[in-house]
Amino acid sequence: MAPKTVRNYINGSWVDAENSGFLDVENPSTGRTIARVPLSTQNEVDRAVTAAKTAFPLWRKTPVTKRAEYMYSLLNLLRENEEEISRVLVEEMGKSTPDAKAEMKRVFQNIEVACSVPMLQQGDKLIDYASGIDGEVIRLPIGVFAAITPFNFPAMAPFWFIPYAIATGNTIVIKPSELTPLTMEAITGYLDEIGLPPGVFNLVNGDKVTASAIIDSPDVDGVSFVGKTETCRLIAGKCVAANKRYQAMGSAKNHLVIMPDYTEMDQLIRNMSTSCYGCAGQRCMASSAIVSIGDEMYETICERFVEDSKKFIVANPLDPEVVDEPMLMGPVISAQSKKFILDMIETGIKEGATLALDGRDIIIPGSEKGHFIGPTVFTDVKPGMEIHKTEIFGPVVVILKAQTLDEAIRIINDHEYSNACSIYTQNGYYARKFKLEAKCGMIGINVGIPAPVPFLPFGGTGNSMICDIKMQGKAAIDFFTESKVVVERYWEED
Ligand code: NAD
Repeated sequence: MAPKTVRNYINGSWVDAENSGFLDVENPSTGRTIARVPLSTQNEVDRAVTAAKTAFPLWRKTPVTKRAEYMYSLLNLLRENEEEISRVLVEEMGKSTPDAKAEMKRVFQNIEVACSVPMLQQGDKLIDYASGIDGEVIRLPIGVFAAITPFNFPAMAPFWFIPYAIATGNTIVIKPSELTPLTMEAITGYLDEIGLPPGVFNLVNGDKVTASAIIDSPDVDGVSFVGKTETCRLIAGKCVAANKRYQAMGSAKNHLVIMPDYTEMDQLIRNMSTSCYGCAGQRCMASSAIVSIGDEMYETICERFVEDSKKFIVANPLDPEVVDEPMLMGPVISAQSKKFILDMIETGIKEGATLALDGRDIIIPGSEKGHFIGPTVFTDVKPGMEIHKTEIFGPVVVILKAQTLDEAIRIINDHEYSNACSIYTQNGYYARKFKLEAKCGMIGINVGIPAPVPFLPFGGTGNSMICDIKMQGKAAIDFFTESKVVVERYWEED
């Protein structure tokens, strides 16, 4: 059977792509082509943006309670169909089913926050700030937003934006990653079912050319982007030049610092390995650099972390034998990504780091064409080595030694990326110093993945977040609304 072709969704209808060229969408566990994704044309982008622009004037006037009701309907439908969506996600992305379900949970929670829009979009009023003068802040929708999202969270990343944009009265055009477009196609089926007015939500598939056409459209008022830092910079530059509102969340290299006072070793090691190997290390919140303080703790961590890493089961996550296995690791996303990771492992060896666990020669029977790499650990890593500087985005962990907390904080703060970092300690002084001095936007204390739930803002700092406004929660309401200040005075009748 020929692989299916992914469709676009424009102005409230499914549309077959124009004859524009296609890319294969692969199941990374088997290397098999499961679909073709269209490289949508300028014409298709224009149609989607025009639909969004045309829908905006009526949608912005739709009562906020009604907009929230659409979100409740979507939440219910997605919850009912979680199994089916998770399966699509696992097939095209390669993460395990428990990881896909954890991702879906974040989707639900982001919609739950958006359901509170009648409270969240409220403004403020100050009566009589001068004699007879009142001041008021009102939050208004802005217009047409675009969302351009990465391959590694095909459901959650779009839902950092879609529910907030729509609930606050904006319209949206989304372009998911060309590597994982099927999850968003499946979810769009449910967005279609809730009966939003045509043009409020639009899905256009394609690669960076399609993304650029959307971002460059003069009728797009704001852009939400998640991907590599280099792409963030390009997009941020364009948005600044065109005076568009934008968010651009970029790359990461997250450090875990282990203080010598930490004693719960079994729990610590498992917490760290789950953080490093979940989604085969392809998470912006994955830890990939461990900094151990003191010689004794360093020796213990190296030995025990390598032992625990060996316990991960590397397999096709849809293999019924392993499907619910908590320590399951699937493939990386593509042959290109696998080659990059293998090249980085070669680089680490050449740089003089010790390859304490080598995941290169792994073959999964029945999935020989899948893009698998086993857990890989480098010890004796020094700050500034390429394997420490680069975001490898795979199951490769580097372990560094420091003698003091100050030295560990320096290693983190000198790094190019500043998304998240964590400390393991029971000492309040160390924990406080770390949270105040480590430069990252998200800090963990005895938590391996300090990913904030959607009720809190999500975002790094420095080169991991090339913008000012974070995602999720109240921050998302700030991003998707314009605040106007109204100063009013009325004279008394006499
Ligand atoms: P990517 O930058 O290659 O692509 C992301 C999206 O941008 C895709 O939809 C792609 O088609 C589009 N794109 C690529 N080049 C473009 C260009 N020149 N102009 C316009 N659009 C372009 O990223 P990826 O490989 O899909 O995702 C992995 C990256 O995303 C990692 O660096 C990871 O750390 C980062 N990420 C960050 C966060 C965060 O919250 N900071 C979350 C998830 C992923």
